[in-house]
Amino acid sequence: MKSEESKGIPLHTKILAALFVGAVCGVSINLATGGEETPWLSSLIKYVLEPIGQIFLRMLFMTVIPLVFASLALGVAQLGSAGNLGRIGFKTMLYFVLTMTCAVVIGLTLVNTIKPGEGLPEELRTSLMERFGGDAEKKAGPTTFGVQTFIDIIPRNPLKSMVEMEMLSVICFALFIGIALTRIPKNRSSVVITFLEAINDLMVVLISWAMRLAPLGVFALIFSVTAKFGYSLLASLGWYVAVVIVGIALQLFGVMPLLLVVFARYNPLQFFTRARAIMITAFSTSSSNATLPTSIKVSEENLSVPPAVAGFVLPLGATMNMNGTALFEGVTVMFLAQVFGIDLTLSQQAIVVVLAVLTAIGAAGVPGGSLPLLAMVLAYVNVPSEGIALILGVDRLLDMCRTTLNVTADVVIAMCISKSEQRHEHRPESHAT
Ligand code: ASP
Repeated sequence: MKSEESKGIPLHTKILAALFVGAVCGVSINLATGGEETPWLSSLIKYVLEPIGQIFLRMLFMTVIPLVFASLALGVAQLGSAGNLGRIGFKTMLYFVLTMTCAVVIGLTLVNTIKPGEGLPEELRTSLMERFGGDAEKKAGPTTFGVQTFIDIIPRNPLKSMVEMEMLSVICFALFIGIALTRIPKNRSSVVITFLEAINDLMVVLISWAMRLAPLGVFALIFSVTAKFGYSLLASLGWYVAVVIVGIALQLFGVMPLLLVVFARYNPLQFFTRARAIMITAFSTSSSNATLPTSIKVSEENLSVPPAVAGFVLPLGATMNMNGTALFEGVTVMFLAQVFGIDLTLSQQAIVVVLAVLTAIGAAGVPGGSLPLLAMVLAYVNVPSEGIALILGVDRLLDMCRTTLNVTADVVIAMCISKSEQRHEHRPESHAT
């Protein structure tokens, strides 16, 4: 990033400009063609823009598994004692669960007040079910959530988990390796630690190459989405979309700044300026995993989060802490219940809160990663899961917004934890133990 800055326009400004220009061009073309895909537009998207977007995404994705494994194992090893790990691990999980619960509660309050599902015309419902019903079936995942879900987190074969990008299993293995590194003699562990540090450094180099492609990649991704987007659908589902976006905005610009001020003692304006590259990458890629490399780099370089905290909290957060996803799931379940005329009691809504948080933890940090799990929550409260068809057409836009919140919350939490760890280090008794 530094070499870019020395050349003139800073990289994050270029990325922001690309986002803006991509959106303006995409929306204009969409308006000009009336949302129809003309042959030249399809060819442009298919043969030029989508490949560029995909190459950018793949360059980021390619670093994710080595980065998550190395930074998490190192983060845990650097935390040193089991006491440190236990304390930070506990704080991290507490922040994750509390912020996600807060997000779902905001979402449910809005959806219960505005009731966007009650006014949906019957004909629109039928036509959406016909248009997206097939896709919804493909997206729906398993509808059960049981003991096996938890057992599966422990990998039988860590390499297979890495190959298949089963993030929770990779995290579990990295945590074990990190703890084990503190239990073997220093002369042995230092070899592995040096190796993991080198892997981390290598990934940083690859990421800086990927980020050079970011302006072009962001332009291509945003153009393709906005040019093909169904804006008429957006208008028909306007209230539902508005509830999700307002909920996300409240959590992002209300709750997050509060956490920054109270727990991280950090100026929110400064935070949003410095974290811009993270938020734009999340918005344009719709993927927490693809944004992880950028969030680690920016948190350490621009937001002064120590590597041990960033290396521990951010990879965990990219997979487990999804504020936006939890909110989106809660609102969507209620919206579909309203559409199908199903009354969910207060205790059923409490179940929705718990399930939305649990499934957000399990959702993959990839575009649309939460949809299979959303189907599971719907099935639990007896709302027809094929109802997902109703929202598929606008999901990409919502995904961009919820991923931005997902990733921003991870970084905010890393900052809160880093502040509280500083306080802990300065406490006299912490030296004695
Ligand atoms: N795209 C989201 C993420 O990567 C997951 C989701 O809600 O679909 O964070």
